Amino acid sequence: MTFLTVMKSGSFTLADRTRGREKDMKIPSLLDMIGELIAIPSISSTNPQYDQSNGPLVDLLATWCSDLGFACEIMPVPDHPGKFNLLATLGEGDGGLVLAGHTDTVPYDLNSWQTDPFELVQRDNRLYGLGTSDMKAFFALSLTAVEQLSADNVLPERPLILLATANEETNMAGARALTGKPSARYALIGEPTGLKPIRMHKGIFMEAICLHGKSGHSSNPDRGKSALDGMYQVMGELLRWRKELQAEHTNAFFETPVPTLNLGYIRGGDSPNRICADCELDIDLRPLPGMAIEELRATLRRRVRKSLATSGLEIEFKALFGGIPAMETPADAEIVKITERLTKHAAGAVAYATEAPYLRALGMDTIILGPGDIEQAHQPDEFIGMERLQPMTDILTQLITQVGRL
Ligand SMILES: [Zn+2]
Repeated sequence: MTFLTVMKSGSFTLADRTRGREKDMKIPSLLDMIGELIAIPSISSTNPQYDQSNGPLVDLLATWCSDLGFACEIMPVPDHPGKFNLLATLGEGDGGLVLAGHTDTVPYDLNSWQTDPFELVQRDNRLYGLGTSDMKAFFALSLTAVEQLSADNVLPERPLILLATANEETNMAGARALTGKPSARYALIGEPTGLKPIRMHKGIFMEAICLHGKSGHSSNPDRGKSALDGMYQVMGELLRWRKELQAEHTNAFFETPVPTLNLGYIRGGDSPNRICADCELDIDLRPLPGMAIEELRATLRRRVRKSLATSGLEIEFKALFGGIPAMETPADAEIVKITERLTKHAAGAVAYATEAPYLRALGMDTIILGPGDIEQAHQPDEFIGMERLQPMTDILTQLITQVGRL
C-alpha cells in the first residue's frame, strides 16, 4: 500500500499537483467532472491488447477528493501492474458509510458508436460516453453531494469513505484485494440500477470438465476408452444434480427463483470412425444467496468423479472463473430501509454480480443503487439520462445525512 505522497514511479505526486493551491479549492462542476472522467480511458479486459491502467483516473479522483478534505490512499492491486484502488476518507471514528464504485469500463466497438466514446456529448437530455451509466458519473455525483453538504456545513461526524476499485469488469481483482478496510457500517455501490435499491444478487462460477481416454478404431471399442461416452454419463449426472439443487433451493425474490446450471460448451472427438480420446464440457452455475461456491464446486467434482468411477478415464477440472459469491443484505438493515424510503421503491434483486459480496465480507450492510440503467451498460452509445442526476444527488446527500445520525 502506498500513500499519495509516495505514489507510483513515473507519475507526479498529488503533493506536486496541489502545491500552491488554496485550501478552499473547489471541485469542478458536475458535468465538467463527468466529462473529465469519461475523457480518461480506463478499460479493463482479459485481452491484454485492450487492457489499460486505471492510474490516471484514480489520480484525478484523488485530486478532487483531496480538495474536498478527504485523506486519500492509493493502493496498488497485487499482481496487477498499473491497477489501483482509491480509498478516500473524510472524518474519523467508527461506523459511517462507504460510497463505492469501479473505475474501469468494458472495451468498446468504435464502429458502433455514433460519437467519440471518450468525449461527453450532451444531446436530447442525455449524456453520452463510455462509462457514463456504468459507472463513472456516480463518482462525480458522490463528490457533488459531499461538496453541497460541506458548503452547508452539515457533513455528519461519522466517516464518509469513497472507494474506487479496479478491474470490476474482468476479475474483480480490486475488490478482492480489499482486506481489513474500508471499515464502515454501511456501503452503497452506485452500479446502474435505475435509481432503485438492490439488496440481493446471485453468485456465479464457471468450470471446465475435461475427460481424457484413448483413441482407437471405432470397429473395436476395446481398443480405446471413449471420452464422449464418459461425458454422456457426466451430463446425465449434472442434470440430476441440477434437478436436486432446484428442488432444494428457491428464492421467490428472483425472476428465475432457482439456482441455474448451464451446460454451455462442449468439444470432443475428431472423426466418426475413431474412438474419442478427449472431451471438454464447460458449465456455469449461478447459486442463490446462502449457497457457498466452494461447497458447490467440491460437490460438482465429487459427483463427476463418482459417475466415472469405473470408466478408466482421466478427469481434469479447470476453474474457468473462480467465482463471485451471491449476496444478500437483510430486508431490515437500516440502509435498506433508508434507501427504500428515499427512492420510494422496495429493495429488489438483480441477475448480475457486483462487488457487494466483498464489501459484505468486510462487515458492511450493502445496497446497490445508482443512476444509470443496466440496459445502457456495455452497449454502444452508452448514456445516462440527465433527469437522473439531481435525484441521485439528493439520495446521496440524504443518505449521508441519515447514516450520520445512526
Ligand atoms: Zn458496473
